[in-house]
Amino acid sequence: MLDVGRHPNIELMAYSELKGLEGDAGNFTAKVLKKARYVDADKCTGCGACVEVCPTPVSDLYNEGHADRKAVYSWFAQGIPSTHAIDTDHCRVFQGKRCGICAKKCEADAINFDQTEETVELNVGAVVVATGYDVFDPGKIPEYRYKTLDNVITAMEFERFLSASGPTEGHLYRPSDRKLKAEKADLEKTLAKSAKALARFEKKHGMTSKNFLVALTTNTLELTDDLAKDAEKWAAKAKDHKSKDDRLTALAQKADAVTTAKKIAFIQCVGSRDLRFYPFCSGYCCMHAIKEAIIAHEHDNDTESSIFGMDIRAVGKGFEEYKIRGGNASQITYKRSRVAEIVRGENENPVLIYEDTAQQKIVKEPFDLVVLSTACAPVKGTQDIADTLGVDLDKFGFFKTDAANPLDTTRDGIFVCGCAHSPMDIPESVAQASSAAARAVQAIMKSKKAS
Ligand SMILES: Cc1cc2nc3c(=O)[nH]c(=O)nc-3n(C[C@H](O)[C@H](O)[C@H](O)COP(=O)(O)OP(=O)(O)OC[C@H]3O[C@@H](n4cnc5c(N)ncnc54)[C@H](O)[C@@H]3O)c2cc1C
Ligand code: SF4
Ligand code: SF4
Repeated sequence: MLDVGRHPNIELMAYSELKGLEGDAGNFTAKVLKKARYVDADKCTGCGACVEVCPTPVSDLYNEGHADRKAVYSWFAQGIPSTHAIDTDHCRVFQGKRCGICAKKCEADAINFDQTEETVELNVGAVVVATGYDVFDPGKIPEYRYKTLDNVITAMEFERFLSASGPTEGHLYRPSDRKLKAEKADLEKTLAKSAKALARFEKKHGMTSKNFLVALTTNTLELTDDLAKDAEKWAAKAKDHKSKDDRLTALAQKADAVTTAKKIAFIQCVGSRDLRFYPFCSGYCCMHAIKEAIIAHEHDNDTESSIFGMDIRAVGKGFEEYKIRGGNASQITYKRSRVAEIVRGENENPVLIYEDTAQQKIVKEPFDLVVLSTACAPVKGTQDIADTLGVDLDKFGFFKTDAANPLDTTRDGIFVCGCAHSPMDIPESVAQASSAAARAVQAIMKSKKAS
């Protein structure tokens, strides 16, 4: 990415959208909308000082909602360009409130709340579509209970958990346990506040709240005029404090017992090779499940993983060897099975119900964490971009291509590569990108020769 950012012949137009394409191969006019970032790209150094002071937390979609970012942000730390952007749906200024601290903090004077979007016209000889894919929404398979069981997550979420810069700094804390710890932290704050309120009554009336409650319930309270005025409020607060304190004790016991996930299940083909959704194989998910299980084991040698699939498709140079190494050295068991259902077990453990095809019996097995390898789906907005480009999509919603020239779309001079073409891994996407670039050059040369 850095090489692309620095290349003298490449102009990066991030945070921009193609709005129109007219003309023919060799001579297209592309209309591109450069969206307003409210941060001046020529001035921003990407230092992140604005992020530190911004008071507005926003759920971070890059971390799949398992962490927060700020209203001024960059999508991820290594993004090119490093220019930040302001999220107008959340920024206090755009919500009509007082703020602007980021502008005061930015030494480069890059924040510009008055920036406007801009449409530019480019004369281009060819177009390469590389809009990628979206992960399939596993909520569409209700029997896997992705929406209701905290510890059923997608492989993309698991990628973020495994990352040192992710929400758990690479430690495999389960979402249910993280919720528990967050609830405990919130309760501690609430209790600290209510303890202060109780302390005021205790000081005023020279009695602990505990003794006050005992005296009140045993009808032995000596009511002064002052105490009579406060008694009802004090009692309500003291009772509420006690019930929250009991809850905290229970939460603390559970939180002390929390460890990282040790027993992990991966379920393959969630939405792929499934006639209800996508009949095709998503190509890369068997390998990313093995990769994630190996990395989980590298993080913690006590981790063991079971990968449930109809078959493991390790197709590629060195892939089968990688699969075998995972089984031999990283405590991975490959289980031939299409999991039927996931239900809630004890301690928020997801319980898998599946047929063990080797023993020919139905098994119910609890895991600490379940990772769903979701299908590769066409990216949101594919139809819009296809309409803008004037090209067709195939029956699954990927860009339609010519069997003889597999990177050619249905319009001359427009090519496609990567997962916009069909599901594929990174090496194949990169190889296709080079081929698409070569096809683009051919189209330009052909039109030059003709003119
Ligand atoms: C959990 C998981 C783990 C994986 N791990 C691996 C791995 O370890 N190794 C491996 O080889 N592969 C892995 N893959 C597969 C890998 O993600 C894909 O092969 C790769 O991302 C495909 O690259 P791409 O450039 O085609 O698409 P993408 O990476 O999806 O990039 C497309 C880009 O286009 C942008 N875009 C979309 N629409 C528009 C639009 N209208 N205008 C402008 N921009 C647009 C998107 O924002 C995105 O930045 C994994 C996949 C998953 C789901
Ligand atoms: S906007 Fe200013 S403070 Fe924020 S990253 Fe850019 S240069 Fe740094
Ligand atoms: S003006 Fe907006 S982006 Fe800047 S600090 Fe305030 S809330 Fe954050």
